[in-house]
Amino acid sequence: MASTLFVGATVWAGADCRPHPGWLLVADDRIAAAGMADEPLPEAGNVLDLPGRHVLPGFVDAHEHPSLTAWVPRGTDGIGWPDLPAALAAIRTAAAVDAGSPWLVFWNALPHTWPERRLPTAAELDRVAPDRRVLVSVRDLHRVAVSPAALADLGLVAAAGWRRSDVVRDRRGRPTGELWEHACGAAVARALAQTEEYLGSQQIETALRAELDRRLGYGYTHVHDAYVPPEQHERMVRLAADEAPRLSWAIGSGAGIFAPGAGPAEFPDGRYGAAGREAKLFLDGGERCALRLPLAALGGLAWGAVRESMAVSGWGPLRETIGRRVRFGGGGLELRYLRYDDRTLIDVLAGYAQAGLRVRLHAVGNLAVRQAAQALRTVGLPAGTATVDHLALLDPATVDALAACGAWACYQPGFLASFARTLLAAGIDRYAAVFGGRLLQDAGLRLVLSSDHPGGVLDPLQILRLAVHRRLLDGTVIQPEQAISRADAVRAHTTEAAASLDAPGAGGLAPGQPADLVICDGDPFEPGTAVTQTWIGGRVAWSADG
Ligand SMILES: [Zn+2]
Repeated sequence: MASTLFVGATVWAGADCRPHPGWLLVADDRIAAAGMADEPLPEAGNVLDLPGRHVLPGFVDAHEHPSLTAWVPRGTDGIGWPDLPAALAAIRTAAAVDAGSPWLVFWNALPHTWPERRLPTAAELDRVAPDRRVLVSVRDLHRVAVSPAALADLGLVAAAGWRRSDVVRDRRGRPTGELWEHACGAAVARALAQTEEYLGSQQIETALRAELDRRLGYGYTHVHDAYVPPEQHERMVRLAADEAPRLSWAIGSGAGIFAPGAGPAEFPDGRYGAAGREAKLFLDGGERCALRLPLAALGGLAWGAVRESMAVSGWGPLRETIGRRVRFGGGGLELRYLRYDDRTLIDVLAGYAQAGLRVRLHAVGNLAVRQAAQALRTVGLPAGTATVDHLALLDPATVDALAACGAWACYQPGFLASFARTLLAAGIDRYAAVFGGRLLQDAGLRLVLSSDHPGGVLDPLQILRLAVHRRLLDGTVIQPEQAISRADAVRAHTTEAAASLDAPGAGGLAPGQPADLVICDGDPFEPGTAVTQTWIGGRVAWSADG
């Protein structure tokens, strides 16, 4: 039996992940024993002396999108574009270089940071890439800009069947090229399907393999892809046959990531890699979410939007606020972008429950979280089989309602790094808990941390630090009262994340558990600390020194 003894390190042992100086014995693919520093050391074939190091359970990313980010190297990464002219110049160059590809795809654009505060229009795209199908995606993947040829291909020019507000139109009713949510997801699905046909499936599968392997360097031992269309299930099964990293996924609609969920009959049987069968549903959107704030927030919101608009001498943010259909309801101010009415959601969830599916519900705003809680409670899913994701903007009553339905609370403090500035500018933090981990925990919910990469940062150490310190790059600390403890943060990104997926590793670094672990070169909550080794099933899956 191959055995390795880890000594001299701080070990975040057991299901509760409490750090203490100690040792750990790995035999074959399992943890064989664990002890405190003053307990006698067992015999082992190998001894790894790790002074000053920390040994943690392997990180589990319960929600991210490797099957989308695998495409980024096949397109152009727009994350560095400083403004709209730079974006258009890059698109012109790409169109000239790649004359044959059925679609020109650009990822990770950050139009909020550009002086123009908007994506290119269809007409602008056609000028730099005449007659080509062009798709430019915003980093959070909830909004894209497409060219006239792409609109025609998607059948969006008439677009009677589409949710009207998802296709932005000019005063004469013609699509401007800007697509949100459902229409955005459909455009991405079509662009990727046609490009895959052109490139060949093998190339995409190889890219996805490399994308998953890249997670090992961050200390991830298990990656959960939060959306896979039914057509790609078999590919995921093949990829999951490789041990590193462990892989699992949720199945959503074949008509695009934001389309209404597939019927229970469309879900393949058997486990989905390392996790149970899971269905993915979107209850609201990204920026277009379902949110209720107290009336007092109106002043702050309007002022924030006006100030932003003046700063950029345009009316982008104000247009957005109005475009999100602000209205008065329930004694407050509502942005009401709900994808399901209550009855339909209950029926869909009941169907999934009957088919024995776990469910993952996207809910950004408190109104969407409230709808999730009510529907889950009505349907009565078995405890621990539902996860509510994001939980970006919360109030105590909504959190209590969620706690009553026994769902997992999966949130992404990594988003603080990208979204918090906008929320602070609009004054929303005064009226809602922003990624309020402590509020969720105090209500009795079990917490899960995840990246939602590419929407949020991928690095789990950065996510842990944001969950605990809540400090932005400029030093601003956002709602420090929502911080969770260090051990709770580690649990939420390791053992609890595994438990939420019905996956191996819920017991942490304890005898009998799979030997999935990470070695860090110091305290994981210190800013300079990095992962140096990732072990999966008792074997080194990745090492900083190659
Ligand atoms: Zn996501």
